[in-house]
Amino acid sequence: MQANRTEVDQWSPSSWHSKPVAQGVKYPNEDQAKSVLSKIQNLPPLVSPAEIERLRHQLMAVQRNEAFLLHAGDCAESFDACTHENISAKLGLILSFSLILIWGARVPVVRIGRIAGQYAKPRSSGTEKIGDREVPSFRGDNVNSLDPEHRTPDPERLMQAYFHSTATLNCLRSLLTSGFASLHHPRDWSLSHVRSPALRAEFERITMGLADALDFTRTIGSETAKEGFNYEQGGGRGVLGEVDFYTSHEGLLLPYEEALTRLLPIPSNLRSTVKSQQSTGGTGASIPHAYYNTSAHFVWVGDRTRQLDGAHIEYFRGIRNPIGVKVGPSMGTEELVKLLDVVNPDREGGRVTLITRYGASKIEMFLASHIAAVQKSGHPVAWVCDPMHGNTLTSSTGLKTRNFGTIISELTACLRIHTECGSKLGGVSLEFTGEFNDEGFSVTECLGGSMELSEEQLGLRYQSFCDPRLNFEQSLDVAFLISNHFKK
Ligand code: PEP
Ligand code: MN
Repeated sequence: MQANRTEVDQWSPSSWHSKPVAQGVKYPNEDQAKSVLSKIQNLPPLVSPAEIERLRHQLMAVQRNEAFLLHAGDCAESFDACTHENISAKLGLILSFSLILIWGARVPVVRIGRIAGQYAKPRSSGTEKIGDREVPSFRGDNVNSLDPEHRTPDPERLMQAYFHSTATLNCLRSLLTSGFASLHHPRDWSLSHVRSPALRAEFERITMGLADALDFTRTIGSETAKEGFNYEQGGGRGVLGEVDFYTSHEGLLLPYEEALTRLLPIPSNLRSTVKSQQSTGGTGASIPHAYYNTSAHFVWVGDRTRQLDGAHIEYFRGIRNPIGVKVGPSMGTEELVKLLDVVNPDREGGRVTLITRYGASKIEMFLASHIAAVQKSGHPVAWVCDPMHGNTLTSSTGLKTRNFGTIISELTACLRIHTECGSKLGGVSLEFTGEFNDEGFSVTECLGGSMELSEEQLGLRYQSFCDPRLNFEQSLDVAFLISNHFKK
């Protein structure tokens, strides 16, 4: 423990520079990149320490099995998709999904979107084949262009990422505070687009029951039950109508993450609970400070960049935000515990969320031993199932897709294995989209689901430029499945 503490003392937002950087970006003009980053360093933070601490507190509730985490959104956002329609559709689906869980499983839901900064993509190969040409891989809108003619990394895209994140966050904040998210109007979250009559009826049954419950609460004048999940949330109370919603992205481009990492005062009501990373911020004053990544509330480290001696883990161990760690089949059990020792030496609650993503055919081989190792270590973690990333395949027509049945198979195996191990699944991490085309049709990127999407139908409205996402109906199918599981 002592060794870790000494290392923590040596941590700085730039200490990762001395470690090998997986998935690093090489800019043709390094001076230009430096100048963009120093400009970003002076721009305002996107999120505040109080919001970040509030999320940490809510994730502690997830760890205690008192709340369920929904982490969801696009595989990657694009700058072009930063529109009011798209953002409200994404928020609407996340709200609908969480409503099904709250209503069915009677559990508060912590909502974290893959949104307002999820631009960078890790790639398995530096090049990809387009037609008969081999070109540098597309690395996400904040690195290079989807257009194969413009694949050279351009640092100005980092600046664009900052401003697109800002615009997205502004839109989210205004939607959340202007009644869009109110449980009084769940139909506004795009129920009109649900085509399956059964799904529609089920969702309507919930919203009507909810309207009744809200009416009743108003009638009896209950102050404390007023539209909210009244569990302790880090110094505040979640109020639907002004629901809590958090942002996240993969912390892949460390120069950008570093530029938005700021030494800020720890909110006063939490100071006594913070054990590590305290500093007076060089002010000489006695107010404790911590390094917050102010680009998002939650950042996660991907399965390709989580090497114990690598730059990403070095960066992640020093920030105060709650973090996610992707855990795939290549993670060793000892390695997992060592990693937890590094990123959470003081074993603080709410700090680490493990997002498992083995694939339906591999989960039986790995999950139980990972759970056992973490239980033995005594580390507090939230376990989240990502049933998407281990189940990607290529359709006979050459489209990247996922089978709804396989996604469900990993998710149900995950629920079962946790129970068998005396553990509990704390949440899901999904790639889904609430987008509809002008005629009101959902995207067609994943096979199956209650709408029984076939291989021939995949090409109809395949809009993802990255991984295939569940559409609105398929996502609600998943929500009902989880909700029914926890109802029992
Ligand atoms: C992702 O979540 O988009 C992703 C790339 O996941 P993983 O690191 O688990 O492959
Ligand atoms: Mn993805």
